[in-house]
Amino acid sequence: MTALSTDEILAGIRAWVEIESPTDDLAAMGRMADRVEAEYRTIGARVERIAGQDGFGDHLLVTEDRLCPAVAADRPGVLVLSHIDTVHPVGTLAGPLPFRIEGDRAYGPGTEDMKGGAYLALAALRQLARERKRTRLPVRHLLVSDEEVGSGTSRAHIEREAARARFVLVTEPARSGGKIVTARKGSAMFSVTAHGRPAHAGVEHHLGRSAIREIAHQVGVLEAMTDYARELTVNVGTISGGTRGNVVPDVATIQVDVRFPNPALCEEVVARVHALRPRDPDVRLEVHGGVNRPGYEKSPAIAALFEHARALAAEIGFKLQDLKTGGGSDGNFTAAIAPTLDGLGVDGDGGHTLEERLYISSIEPRTRLLMRLMETLG
Ligand SMILES: [Zn+2]
Repeated sequence: MTALSTDEILAGIRAWVEIESPTDDLAAMGRMADRVEAEYRTIGARVERIAGQDGFGDHLLVTEDRLCPAVAADRPGVLVLSHIDTVHPVGTLAGPLPFRIEGDRAYGPGTEDMKGGAYLALAALRQLARERKRTRLPVRHLLVSDEEVGSGTSRAHIEREAARARFVLVTEPARSGGKIVTARKGSAMFSVTAHGRPAHAGVEHHLGRSAIREIAHQVGVLEAMTDYARELTVNVGTISGGTRGNVVPDVATIQVDVRFPNPALCEEVVARVHALRPRDPDVRLEVHGGVNRPGYEKSPAIAALFEHARALAAEIGFKLQDLKTGGGSDGNFTAAIAPTLDGLGVDGDGGHTLEERLYISSIEPRTRLLMRLMETLG
């Protein structure tokens, strides 16, 4: 029997990192999906390739039911959820972020978010088979191609698989020194455009209706909705408008990011944004957008699942803690459908930056935790 090997797993992660796969590069995403599919077929799992849509790459659904032969393959199982796209364009590896190891750190595009975590799930299934261990439920691993842009083409597949899962394990990176995630804020995105009336700023200023003045007022109204006590934030992240300094501007637009902890606040804030009214009656406001990801709340079932994971981690020899984060993931889609633990991937830092790295010492304990979860959940 081959023992669990950090070196072997790190080499596997490196091979995945070296196939750069930004969400919007269809050819690159194809190469990445080919690699994952081939590797899973090598260890004998069933792989279904779900054709990409709207210019995005294919998703992969892996089924491993040989480890629970007594259970019908179509029974509700354990869903492991990963993504194979990254935010880094092709060329990052040859340029500012080559794969390299410095002490406990392995740097590279996607090492932390989340080639590392996705690979740990494969390594856990491979190791269970090598050790001839049994799982109590079939394990399905869904790897999607568009998480970094909001999972528009994978959401239906994620929700369908969550609906036939008893538990969901998401391999996003750990947070703040190894903590896993049991709650995430939901998010909504809006664009707000003011349509005023253009005029010559010197000759007929009084005939103009400034879209910039209106939108500046709305920035204040929106930002004032932020309420830290209720974990609600409203951020105006971009602003654009106007044409030249000597023209009263007729158009101005802002992009707004809203984060909320639960459905009630979500409904409240979405209604408030759609109810924005222009201060200047001659200016028209246009609001587009809405909820992107629903909130992920720590339900009693999620709390119980976390306690189970914490006991397993203690047996393995580490202390597992959880937290709530403002960042969204595909766990936001599954948490209301089946008890979900997130942040089960590698520990690391610098995701989405040129400092992205994983901590090599987290590979073994986190692979073992995934193995034990797959073995014991049922
Ligand atoms: Zn991620």
